[in-house]
Amino acid sequence: MSVVDVVVVGAGFGGLYALHKFRSQGLSVRVFESAPEVGGTWYFNRYPGARCDVESVDYCYSFSDELQQEWTWTEKYATQSEILEYINWVADKLDLRRDITFETRVSSAVLDEQTLRWTVTTDTGEMVDARFVVMATGPLSAAMTPDFAGLDTFAGEVYHTAHWPHEGVDFTGKRVAVIGTGSSGIQSIPIIAEQAERLYVFQRTPNYSVPAGNRPLTGEETAEIKANYAERRRMSWRSGGGSPHVAHPKLTMEATPEERRVAFEERWELGGVLFSKTFSDQMISLEANEEARKFYENKIRAIIDDPDVAEDLIPNDHPIGTKRICTDTNYFQTFNRTNVELVSVRKTPIESVDATGINTSEAHYDIDALVLATGFDAMTGTLAKIDIAGRGGEKLVDDWADGPRTYLGLGTDGFPNLFLVSGPGAPAVLANMVLHAEAHVNWIADAIAYLDQNSYAAIEPTADAVDSWIADCAQRAEATLFTKANSWYMGANVPGKPRMFMLFIGGFGVYLDICNEAAAAGYKGFDLLKVP
Ligand code: FAD
Ligand code: NAP
Repeated sequence: MSVVDVVVVGAGFGGLYALHKFRSQGLSVRVFESAPEVGGTWYFNRYPGARCDVESVDYCYSFSDELQQEWTWTEKYATQSEILEYINWVADKLDLRRDITFETRVSSAVLDEQTLRWTVTTDTGEMVDARFVVMATGPLSAAMTPDFAGLDTFAGEVYHTAHWPHEGVDFTGKRVAVIGTGSSGIQSIPIIAEQAERLYVFQRTPNYSVPAGNRPLTGEETAEIKANYAERRRMSWRSGGGSPHVAHPKLTMEATPEERRVAFEERWELGGVLFSKTFSDQMISLEANEEARKFYENKIRAIIDDPDVAEDLIPNDHPIGTKRICTDTNYFQTFNRTNVELVSVRKTPIESVDATGINTSEAHYDIDALVLATGFDAMTGTLAKIDIAGRGGEKLVDDWADGPRTYLGLGTDGFPNLFLVSGPGAPAVLANMVLHAEAHVNWIADAIAYLDQNSYAAIEPTADAVDSWIADCAQRAEATLFTKANSWYMGANVPGKPRMFMLFIGGFGVYLDICNEAAAAGYKGFDLLKVP
């Protein structure tokens, strides 16, 4: 069995930075990645139209000014292929591949309580003895395929947006169905519609989507951003969501109607997900949220030709922003095309799939290809696939049976030296995930250095710290509108999953302060352990 300081699971943005950071700290590191290449999310999600919804210039590593200055993004919201190219460029530049074992899935991690070390086993039968295990397995990496009756009898092609064929798919002349209208569906539908002979969009819940306003970045803009990167990043680290944008200084109802209109209009122009942060109280006060919703509805109704279709496309079951706002290019315009039909699954539920297509309660839809844009078992799904056993042989899945339990989203009691990157209990997907991963990895690296400087073998959250962190996260969530939506943040998209808001909602900057304060206080809330 080989012996290393750290095993990192995953080679997406999180795992790659972890490898670089720990290596530069003099630690021996092994990374295991089930895919044949680096990239994580951006390796797998190659569906047409896939792009980031945080601006490219922010959705990239900040830890090296050299990287920031050398790389040039071509568009405001980069395509999947450009992001993947960037990740590969970083991996080459930092010579990361030599410590990554690809096409190898970690199947278990078992703690030895006597030595406080972990035995990590892979699906190729390799075993590694590690002092630390860092799970950079991704909050959105367990794709979900609903259990549609008869799906396996369909004679045509079936694609999941999160496992898109590398060679691409040509839908020209085909009758296609897309099931799902979350961010993945909403990005891919306009492009599939341009190719397909006929496109049926099966929508269960309408989603809020704000146009990206995507465009090429000019040389002038790029030069200015690069000249001011330090300030841009400083603002991002202090912000609510990891981007350099601040909410309007007034609360929604303190602003005059004209000030509100101008503020919403400016955010609309900025594009996408940040619309939910136009005013700081928008996600707390229903009255404030209603103002955003009314503005949104007017914009969308103006795009869609058929008022009945508009009615079906406009959400009415959750406050705006309580599910991640989608970021689209020509999504609503797509429903004005004659080859596109919206099928409301709420009105006419999908009953089965057969060899030729989809059966709803009212009709049969003949199709050649089926696209599943049905999302992920988010936050916990990927970790649950790894057999993780801590103190007394207790399994992480059992410990989390009623919902994930973490302290600061970084680890949990009973599992010393097991760290999570961008896991539940952190802001994670509510923030710019590249900066978020950097923050987690930096915190973990500092903790390891502290253990070594003070001759400790391990660090483990106390049960009290975990309990009070979960209670704090729940209380903060309850004070917002987020718990009013059946979102994947709440686990609501996976049948049988415990319903719990799985993220820290208090803001990225606030969260970082809490993590740093815990470290500065000698790792408050953690037990620092010697080998028994
Ligand atoms: P991932 O990129 O998911 O990487 C995890 C890796 O771990 C994967 O490669 C997986 O194969 C590997 N892995 C998992 N389990 C095992 C195992 N047992 N053994 C070996 N390997 C394993 N976030 C934003 O902030 N902005 C965006 O614009 C944005 N856009 C997104 C678009 C899409 C289509 C999706 C799905 C997500 C998007 N996200 C976005 C969230 C995105 O997941 C994160 O931004 C980020 O890429 C996550 O990086 P990660 O390294 O934490 O995880
Ligand atoms: P998602 O938001 O969970 O959307 C899944 C869609 O599938 C929903 O419309 C859902 O309907 C539908 N669905 C699921 N099961 C169904 C069933 N049995 N019958 C009918 N419909 C069903 O997943 P996603 O679109 O992949 O996005 C997940 C997250 O990834 C996003 O929120 C975002 O954080 C990230 N992402 C970002 C981007 C980007 O713009 N950069 C792009 C893609 C993904 P219900 O709503 O009714 O459950």
